[in-house]
Amino acid sequence: MAKILLIICDGLSDRPVSELGGKTPLEAAFKPNLDMLALSGITGTMHTVDIGIRPGSDTAHLSIFGYDIPKYYTGRGPFEAAGLGMDIKKGDIAFRGNFATVNENLMVVDRRAGRIEKTQNLIKSLEKIKIPDVKIFIRKGLGHRFALTLRGKNLDGRISDTDPHETHKKVLLSKPLIENIKTKKTAKVVNNFTRQSFMILKNEPVANCILLRGAGTLRYIPSFTEKYNLKAACIAGGGLYKGIAKILGMDIIEVKGATGKPDTDVKTKINTALQLFEKYDFVFVHIKACDSLAEDGNFITKKAFIEKIDQALKPLTKRHDILTVVTADHTTSSKLKKHTADPVPVLITGEDIHTDHVTKFEERAVLTGGLGHIRGLNLMPIIIDLIGKAPLYGA
Ligand code: ZN
Repeated sequence: MAKILLIICDGLSDRPVSELGGKTPLEAAFKPNLDMLALSGITGTMHTVDIGIRPGSDTAHLSIFGYDIPKYYTGRGPFEAAGLGMDIKKGDIAFRGNFATVNENLMVVDRRAGRIEKTQNLIKSLEKIKIPDVKIFIRKGLGHRFALTLRGKNLDGRISDTDPHETHKKVLLSKPLIENIKTKKTAKVVNNFTRQSFMILKNEPVANCILLRGAGTLRYIPSFTEKYNLKAACIAGGGLYKGIAKILGMDIIEVKGATGKPDTDVKTKINTALQLFEKYDFVFVHIKACDSLAEDGNFITKKAFIEKIDQALKPLTKRHDILTVVTADHTTSSKLKKHTADPVPVLITGEDIHTDHVTKFEERAVLTGGLGHIRGLNLMPIIIDLIGKAPLYGA
C-alpha cells in the first residue's frame, strides 16, 4: 500500500499582482519541481471549507483532514492550547490569551504588552486564581501569548471574547453567544477570572491585564487512525498545526530548524518526512511562511519562499512509491493582506494513478485539471480510494 505525504503550504495561492505582471506569486515563481509533480500527477482546484467561505487555517485544516466543521469545531482555543502541549480533554473549554497593557479606565493601550517575553512568573501568579467547581490550567505561548483551559461541569465555550481586538477600546465582558445555563456559567467564570487577574497584575509595569479570545469546547473527535486506519505523523513549526494534529491523534515529530517562519528548514522537514515512512503510513507536513508573508503584503518574498519550497521538494519527483499531495489551506491575498475564499490548487502524484494534461502547479493552470473542482472534505476520501482502501458504497 502506498504511503501518503500531505504537504500543506499555508496561504500558498494568491490573487494576480499587477507588480508581478498580473501573475500570482505562485505563477511568477521558478518552481520546476512543483511543475514536475503536477505534470506527473493529477491536479484540480479545491474550496477547502466551502464555496465562498473565507477559511481560517484551523477550519481549513480540519476540513482537509476530513472533519466536518459544524460537527467538530467550536473555536480555535482547544487547538492552540493543544499545540502548546496542554492535555485537552473532551468537554474542556480553551482560549487563546494575550498579556496586554491597559490604562486606569481599562482601555487597551497595547494588545501585546510590548511583546513581553518573560511571562513565566505572571503565569504562576495567575495559576493561584480559584473559581469554585472549575479547574484552571495556563500554559505559556510565544512572547506575550498563553493558552487558558477551564475544566468543570456544565461549561460551554460559545461565549464572546474579552479581547476588543483593537487599541483605545475597553476590555470587554464575555457574554453567551447562545443563551443557556452553561454559556451563562462559562461567561461568568471568564469574567470572574479576568477580574481576579486585574487584581493580581494591576501593579505590573507593562503586562497589567489579560485578553481572552477564540473560546472553544473540545468535542468528541475521532482520531485519524480510527477514521482512516492510518498511522499518522505531523511535522510543523506553528503551534496551531501541531495542536490540530495532536487532537487528531497524530504523533508530533519535532524537526530542528522548523520555525514556521521564512527561515524555516523546508529541506530537513521533507527529508525527515521521507524517513518517517518506515514507521508511519501518513505524514502531514505544514509549511507556514507563504501565509504570513502575504498577510504582510510581501509578494516578492512570498514568491522567493515558494522557490525555496520548490527546491526542497526535489527528492519527491523521484519517489513514485509515495502518494504525494500538495495543496494549500486557503488563498492569502498579498494585496488584501488577508485570507480570501478563492479556491486553492491541489496536486496528487504517485504510481499508477491518473494523470491529466496540466503541466504547471498554479492557480489558473489547474482549473482544467483531472480532479476537477473538489471541497476539502473530498480530499481524504479521494486519497484513501487512490491507495485502494476505500470501502464499497452499496453492494
Ligand atoms: Zn492558513
